[in-house]
Amino acid sequence: MERTLIKDLKNKIGESVTIKGWISVRRDQGKMVFFDIRDRSGTVQGVALPKSPAIDVAKETNREFSVAITGNVNQRPEKNIDAEKENGTIELEILEITVLGASETPPFEILGDTIGIDEEVRLKYRYLDLRSPRMQRNIRIRSEFVQRVREYLFERGFVEIETPILTESTPEGSRDFVVPSRLNPGQFYALPQSPQQYKQLLMVGGMERYFQIARCIRDEDLRADRGFEHTQVDIEMSFVDMNDVMETIEGMMILVAESMGKTIKEKPFPRISYKDAMEKYGADKFDLRTDEEKVTGVLAYAWVVNFPFFEKTDDGKWTFTHNPFSMPIPEHVEWLKNGEHIEDIVTQQYDLVCNGVETGGGSIRAHDPEILRATYRVMGMTDADLDERIGHMLEAFKFGAPPHGGIALGVERAVMNITGEDSLREVQAFPMTRRGQTAVMNAPKPLEKKQLDELGIEIKKKTV
Ligand code: ASP
Repeated sequence: MERTLIKDLKNKIGESVTIKGWISVRRDQGKMVFFDIRDRSGTVQGVALPKSPAIDVAKETNREFSVAITGNVNQRPEKNIDAEKENGTIELEILEITVLGASETPPFEILGDTIGIDEEVRLKYRYLDLRSPRMQRNIRIRSEFVQRVREYLFERGFVEIETPILTESTPEGSRDFVVPSRLNPGQFYALPQSPQQYKQLLMVGGMERYFQIARCIRDEDLRADRGFEHTQVDIEMSFVDMNDVMETIEGMMILVAESMGKTIKEKPFPRISYKDAMEKYGADKFDLRTDEEKVTGVLAYAWVVNFPFFEKTDDGKWTFTHNPFSMPIPEHVEWLKNGEHIEDIVTQQYDLVCNGVETGGGSIRAHDPEILRATYRVMGMTDADLDERIGHMLEAFKFGAPPHGGIALGVERAVMNITGEDSLREVQAFPMTRRGQTAVMNAPKPLEKKQLDELGIEIKKKTV
């Protein structure tokens, strides 16, 4: 028989139906067995009556079995109606149960809030944790967020383009994850920290409006709001200035958040200079919500602009504050080219802050090779180093590069804001543990000798 979704049962009173899902609750009352059965759409109560042909199977099943159940949808007698409960006016009289997948007793209570369960256990059995109401909700909200972002961008002429996962180690900031090359022993790819250079090359390639739901991989210290892998809504646009990019993103965040039932504190988003933010809040991320707004889940966005381009490293050299590919404000281009007033050069960078965390950041880029060269010279690179590191970008920009700029927004952080979760791991299907172990599967782990030999790799000292 065709499958009926549980949410549709209330329209099928008096009919015989087959539902498929999991047993949430089973109460064996001796003669009768009661069940709560759930599928992706909802939960319903079912009962196997004493004379039901299903009574024997009903006694053998248990929580978290996956089952197909055929029965009649009945209106509950007045005294049994539970108006508070989903499907509280109906009950499924069970005539047949087919066990599709038996279940051992789960290692933790799935229908409760699994947040209190030891995280290592949750992640080892993540597929069970994902059945919990909280994770079902979070992962579905994440999917809806991405869908709405895509819709917004497609409507505005953006093209979704994938960029390589095996790429070159880049001078962009964090530590790279590297992948050995079998064909070129002793040589390595890096997993992308962001698609920064490829998206700029797509602008040179005439794509004009790019986006990608891009996986970014950085070998960083793990924290609640930071994992090795995260996902960005990555965007790049040609023939734009700062305002164009900021307005596009602001429009997107407003539409997406409001369509998902959130309230935004202030529109248009306030803009504040880095200097003022530091003076007023002591940081470039700040929370504009009142205590009451924190409780009610209001989203307080703000832009931070006018960042210094460079800062001093511990060993006294200059380095970029955000992104080496950025463009200084027009008034400071000459300073950059001449290597003057380095500490005062302001970059065309914009960061999006929401409820105290940085949820995105981007910039207008230096599409003139001379400006990009000047940035790297400030950072102490010789022309030879520079050609080695970014020679391909300098080369590309010789061929009619359009002015361009972009931004990247953290998907996890946006979904954390929407769901009110405090940890990135609550909005990822298979996050890593705090110690960098993969969920369910066993990585990292040593390679077999044969694999190492093929890669020409010898392990110096076994640290496992
Ligand atoms: N690539 C930058 C990042 O990952 C964002 C951008 O400037 O577009 O932070």
